[in-house]
Parts: sequence; C-alpha cells; structure tokens
Amino acid sequence: SAGTGGAASADGAGGGGGRKGGPYDAKVRALLGRMTVDEKLGQLQQLSWTGDTGPGGGQTAEAEEAARKGKLGSVLNVYGAKSTNALQRIAVEESRLGIPLLFGLDVIHGFWTTFPIPLAQASSFDPAVSERDGEVSAKEARSNGVHWTFSPMMDVTHEPRWGRIAEGSGEDTYLAAAFAAAKTRGYQGDREAGGLAAKDRVAACAKHFVAYGGAEGGRDYNTVDVSEAKLRNVYLPPFKAALDAGVATVMASFNTISGVPAHGNQHTLTDILKKEWGFDGFVVSDYTGIQELIAHGFAADGADAGRLALGAGVDMEMVSTHLVDHGRKLLKSGRITVGRLDDAVARILRLKFELGLFDHPYVDEDSAITEPSKAARSAARKAAARSMVLLKNDQEALPLSPSVGSVAVVGPFADSTDLHGTWSGPGAQKFPAVTVADAVRAAAPKAKVTAVKGVDAEGKDTSGVQDAVAAAKAADVTVVVVGEPPAWSGEASSRSDITLPGAQEELISAIAGTGKPFVVVLVNGRPLTVGGWLDSAPAVLEAWHPGIEAGHAIADVLFGTVNPGGKLPVTFPRTVGQVPIYYNHENTGRPYDADNKYTSKYLDLAHGPQFAFGHGLSYTSFSVGEPKASTRRISAGALRKGDTVEVAVSVRNTGERAGDEVVQLYLHDPVASIVQPVRRLRGFRRVSLEAGKSTTVRFRLRAEDFGFWTNDTGGTFVLEKGDVDIYVGNSSLATNKTSLTIA
Ligand code: BGC
Repeated sequence: SAGTGGAASADGAGGGGGRKGGPYDAKVRALLGRMTVDEKLGQLQQLSWTGDTGPGGGQTAEAEEAARKGKLGSVLNVYGAKSTNALQRIAVEESRLGIPLLFGLDVIHGFWTTFPIPLAQASSFDPAVSERDGEVSAKEARSNGVHWTFSPMMDVTHEPRWGRIAEGSGEDTYLAAAFAAAKTRGYQGDREAGGLAAKDRVAACAKHFVAYGGAEGGRDYNTVDVSEAKLRNVYLPPFKAALDAGVATVMASFNTISGVPAHGNQHTLTDILKKEWGFDGFVVSDYTGIQELIAHGFAADGADAGRLALGAGVDMEMVSTHLVDHGRKLLKSGRITVGRLDDAVARILRLKFELGLFDHPYVDEDSAITEPSKAARSAARKAAARSMVLLKNDQEALPLSPSVGSVAVVGPFADSTDLHGTWSGPGAQKFPAVTVADAVRAAAPKAKVTAVKGVDAEGKDTSGVQDAVAAAKAADVTVVVVGEPPAWSGEASSRSDITLPGAQEELISAIAGTGKPFVVVLVNGRPLTVGGWLDSAPAVLEAWHPGIEAGHAIADVLFGTVNPGGKLPVTFPRTVGQVPIYYNHENTGRPYDADNKYTSKYLDLAHGPQFAFGHGLSYTSFSVGEPKASTRRISAGALRKGDTVEVAVSVRNTGERAGDEVVQLYLHDPVASIVQPVRRLRGFRRVSLEAGKSTTVRFRLRAEDFGFWTNDTGGTFVLEKGDVDIYVGNSSLATNKTSLTIA
C-alpha cells in the first residue's frame, strides 16, 4: 500500500470532534457512549437513493435496510416531503438508537426555481445575487426534506475546456471567495444564531477540496500538480472564506494534488483544513471517491482505501462502502483508531443536532413547497439579467426598441425551454424555462415575432438555414440565440474545441449575409471562442445558461429594461490553443508586450485574449477616476496589527441612461521573493448610477491583500517590504494607477 495517511497521526483536530464547548458537545458525547462500533461506522456511510448513473448505482433497498439496522448516516438524492419522511421514519422509529438520517442533494443553482448557473452569477460581480439564490434554494429544498446541499462549488480554474467551469466562479480567487461566502450565508442563514435549525435553511458544503479546477488539459478528474504557494494563494482562499462564513461541511475532490489523491491527502484535509483552520464540521467524500483511491493506484484494496481516507481526514463515505465493510477489521488491527472514528462520528452527529433533526426529524407534508413562487421567479429573473455580460455593441445595435415592428428570433435556442444549465436540480424537469421567443413577444407586444431554429445545437445539417435567412430578411431585426446545450458543460463534459457546436457559426454568417440588423445572444456554460464570427456581429450578449426565467431576463436586457452591468469572471481566449490564458498570470523574464499584460505569444495569433477578465459593456458609458490612496507609506507591522489603506476612486456615468458599473481594483507587487501575478483583483464594487451622476467608491486594503503565501508547507504568509502598484478601472486592463510603499 502507499500513502501517508497512517492511523497514528490521524486523530483529527480537537479530539472527540468539533467546536469545544459548543452547545451540542455533551449530547454528542452521551450518544457516542451508547453506540456500538457498527453503529458508529454506520454514521460514516452515505448511500444514494435513486442514482442509477454513477458507478455505485441505485442503492434504495440497501439504504432502507441499513437505516433499519442503524448502520446509515446519510442519504443523497432523496427529496420530497413524503419520500424523505418515509425513509426517515425507518431510521428514527425502527433503528435501535433512532438517530435521524441526514438528507443531501445537489442543489447547485436552484431547487424548483432555477437561478442562472454559478459562472453566470459570478459575472454579476454582485455576491448578493448568490446569497439570494442560496436563500430561495434553501427554503424550497428544506421544505422538501433536504437538509444539506452539495454547494457552493468554489473551484478556481484557468480551463474553459473543463465542463465544471460552469459550476464555479471562474478564474479569480478573490471573486470566487466572495461568492463562496455569500452563497454559504444564503443557504445557512446566521449559523451562530441557530440558523441551521430553521425550516428554511440547509447546511452547505464547500467543494471540491481542493485544486480540482487545476485538472490537466481541462480533462475532468485529471491530475493536478501544484506548488504549496499556488495551493495557498490560488485554490485555498475560497474555502477559507466559506469556512469563515460558517460552512458546515466540505467535500473532497476527485483529483490528485502533487501525486496524493485529495481523498487520501492528510496535508490538505487534516493539516490545513482541520488543524490550521480549525474546521469543526465534517468532510464528505465525493461520489465513490474513497473507492477511487484504488483506481488512482494509491490504495491496494477497499480496506486500504478506507484506512487512507479516514486517516487523511475524510469523515463520511459517499456511495462506496469501504469504511462500513472493513472498519471493524481496521480497528482491530490498529490501522484506524477509535479516537479518529469517534472524531468523525462526532462531527456528523453535531451537525444533525445543529439542524434540529433529533427534535424535528420530519417535514410537514402539507407545507412542502411544490413550485416556484412568484417572488422566487422574480428573484431568478433579476439574478439572470444581472448576470449577463454585454461583450460587444457597435453603433448601439442594442438595446432594441419595444416598439419595433417585427423581430425574427432564430437559432437552436430561440424557442428552447432547455436553458437551465448544468446541475439544475429537480426544477429543470418540472418547470420549463421561459423561451426567448415568448419573452420577446411579451416585451414587444405589438411586434410580429417569428421563431426559426435554422440549425440544431449539435448537428451539421444546414438545410434549415434558408428559413432562418428568410425570416431575418422579412424582419426589422433578428435576434440569433446560439450556444451550448446544457449537457455540454458540467461534470465529465469537457470539450477540446470551444467554438459554437454544430453549424451554429454557419447560421450566424448566413444571417450576417442578409445585411439586415441583428444581434447575437449566447447561452453557454463556459467561455467560447467567437473569433470565427465576432467581426460580423454588431452586438453580442453573453447570457450564459440563465435558468427558469431565461427568456424574460434576456428580453429585459435586449430591450433595455435592464441595462447590462455584468463582467466576465473568466478570460475569453481567441483560440483554444491559447489555453490556459488568464489575467493573473506571472511575469516571465521575456514578456511579449510592452505592458507585460500577456505572455501568450504565438506566431500565428495576436497577443492577449479575445475578451479580458472583468470586461463588460453597458448601454451607457462610465469614466473611472484616478485612485487615491489614504497613505503613500505604511509599515508591514502596522498592517499586521490591522491597519488598512483606503483607496478612493470616483466613477461617473457619462452617458444618457442609468446603468451599473463594476469598479475593480487590482494589485501588483513588482518585486517579491516569489514571482507575483501581473495583477490580482483585490476589490470590486457594482454601483448603479443615474445619467450624469457620480459617486466615490472606497476600497479598504488589508495585510491579507498585500501579502502572499510562500512554499512553506506549514503555512507562511509574508508581507514583504517594497512598492505596490494599485490599478483601478472597469476591467483587468485598467490603467489608472497609484502606488504605495510597504516599509
Ligand atoms: C460530483 C459532486 C456531487 C456528487 C453528488 C459527484 O460526481 O463531483 O460535485 O456533489 O457527485 O451528486
């Protein structure tokens, strides 16, 4: 066998588990004292209720049987008040100790009410959008018996090929941290005030721990080789932010981290997460993630896999059953310790107490929410419109006039109800998304609106293009709705080519060929390469997969009811051959452009990306002023003691309509003991301004903003002396600059 997760040093943090002196400690201890070894091992087990796609298959019958014997801690994929109550009744009324089950589900961007995909939400640069999603989702899910969501996903990635980029906040650590914290708060409410026991909250799960987004080549589940500094500066901060926001659980990731699978990684799970950060919740494996230690070539067999995972710090096993199957034997031979077992069980029981499951194991079947409410729909619509990014708008092709005479809506997604996006939860099957064609009809009630598909999203057949062209010729304006089918992003949905699939580019060219006005709306789950047609399109709106209110939200922006204010949370490459390309890369010794902004030199390609991180237009215009720092000089000691630097910047709406601008602040440390990113986001604020109005945005920079983590595996954060450049503007290409000295 291999690995470092031996039993001897694997007793977890805080012996016996969790927040010392917390309100549930005594209850947990008393219950642990009454449990047999089998019952303890049972708490570590999570089975899948209906899943028939994963390697574990559906485990419904096993789950009932295990619940009855008191050998089951949790079930995933069960929801609905009746179903969850029926299963819970078995555990509570038929098992020896009556310990309630914990029900988990992937509620990623909505339960019934589908919000835009997380990548879209990040584009809003407004974390309140994700907080609201969390609140709405939690309320709907909890009333249907779900206690726990496997969300938020906070994997930073530089890989548009990776399908799971849709589930996170894109390429920036600081942005991802802000959204991770906000969504956690939305799901959980105020945990300190007993939030988790409320009828409208669920426990959250920070995933996937860690560096999953670093997968080689953007191939899902792939190898990640990362330095300690990169781990700590790029991948870990969103998890720390989620912990600081009180996240109840963490999920391990499928990848290796510098050769050690995350599920067997004592360094990340125990040394950093549980000891250094003091995490007192529990770590759940990913789906058969413990089993996969064998396929990785890290564990010899199931018993070894269980030993390594528990020893490294995993507390609950999803779907595979190695801890329940081999736990007794492992204990007997001393390969796992009772101390570590009790620690894992205590962490799980504590959450069950905190959720109030011992007092209220069932949900009220009469008050289960069965459909999206009006308020929830309206929140989803606002979130979606707020998430859209206007990539291009030549000659003010947008907004469209609501009094337009006729509109052709063409493309495979023109009349599609399948705009929920990946991991869209139970709502996607029951509640079709509002189509763009229907929404245009509603927004421009006097217009003659025709909808023509033209081409399929995937096939190469272009025989329908002529109908789309005819419709475009007959209309005052054409809205071309193209993109990716939702299943083309998400888990195990990587792409080697990130252009519009099928014959959609041909459709755009044909519409452009009519010479009539048209705009392009993109519905997709990742950055796309758009160079093949971008020049021909007067305006392009990146709508992502907008969720249940998709059409309405798109029409809100197309007709200017909502002035777009979103920004790209991820770089759009010119071609896939440039990947990875991201704004916060390091300096090289031979930078290729004068500003040292991009190092993506190829003989056959212009420098830089198609669209930069932070880019996004508006129907009005803004000017962002020069940054003014409250001091030119501050000592490292003062910063460490908590002193801050304020950077003030004015922003003015210089156009003729009200709109939103996202003022962005980037730092660059020009000389450091570890080469620093050419710039990194350390502040953003989305402001709404009436035409002609201005305001001052103030950012407060702290020690954590100026310093960085070194390669010390024990965790060393340094604040080095010297100059720091501060850029402000409305994208990562911001040029307004000031600097200060850390003395
Ligand atoms: C995914 C997780 C998800 C789990 C349960 C796994 O395949 O990686 O993100 O939470 O399945 O559905």
